[in-house]
Amino acid sequence: MQSITADPYEAITRWYKRRFSVLWSHVPELVAIRAGLREATQLSLEPARFAREQARLEDFCHRAGLALQSYLRRGMVKVLISARAIPNLDPTDEQRLGELFGYPACCVRRFASHQAQPLEPFINHMTALLGGRDRVDFRLNLLLSCTTLHLVRHFPCHLGCQSTLEQARRLLEAMERLNPRLHRQILRHCRAPALYLDVCGAAVFFQGERLNDRVRYRSCHCPVQPRGLLALSMNASVSDCDLVDELVQTLRLGDELICRPNELLILQRGQWLATFPRPSHLAWQLISFV
Ligand SMILES: [Zn+2]
Repeated sequence: MQSITADPYEAITRWYKRRFSVLWSHVPELVAIRAGLREATQLSLEPARFAREQARLEDFCHRAGLALQSYLRRGMVKVLISARAIPNLDPTDEQRLGELFGYPACCVRRFASHQAQPLEPFINHMTALLGGRDRVDFRLNLLLSCTTLHLVRHFPCHLGCQSTLEQARRLLEAMERLNPRLHRQILRHCRAPALYLDVCGAAVFFQGERLNDRVRYRSCHCPVQPRGLLALSMNASVSDCDLVDELVQTLRLGDELICRPNELLILQRGQWLATFPRPSHLAWQLISFV
């Protein structure tokens, strides 16, 4: 059986990784800094990775006229890239960091209130945020926030947060002027229908059309690899990650998905290919980004 065509998303990701290395998924934030919409962005790297990337990162920031500061926190190197150097930075001050990243005050307050719990809302609180929604504004496509193709990188206080939506609108406008290529890619890919899976915030995106409970597609991709996030998850298990892997592999062989509450059916040219029954502890849903 032949796999269907390669997904254009994979070519886009390769391009940004080649060009921006560890900063590949932070390009929208770099546009926002250039447009004066935020002061800084930050990435976390394993110390060994930082050692390998430091010279390249410093060179990039020097050429782009940006400041780079780094500090160790919870065993990871935090790399803060900003329009100008930030003096007296306290890395534990979530409120101040939220301001530097330009996050709305309502979302910063909500995030800070999660302090007692693991601070990985994209992994542990996504299902609560999506809350069975069938349609979501494409500018709030958080399921792509780990990729280059996003407008929002913070976890909003709720999906109806008007400050977050306004920020996403302003960034999209700035992007049209400053990075028309990324602007085009976001308009195209953030509107793809997705199958959200309740495993470490993973979702499968389809190049294709959704009709009620089914999607006919030419290609698909899963930007999150749940296995790599398992240690940060409060709920997901190894067998959940296996299920996502097997599902994605099978979807790549098909061209149609039927999403029922208790099973997923995968078809190829109208012929049944596979059925995945829903484990009772997992939720899944189709989402249209409009
Ligand atoms: Zn908010």
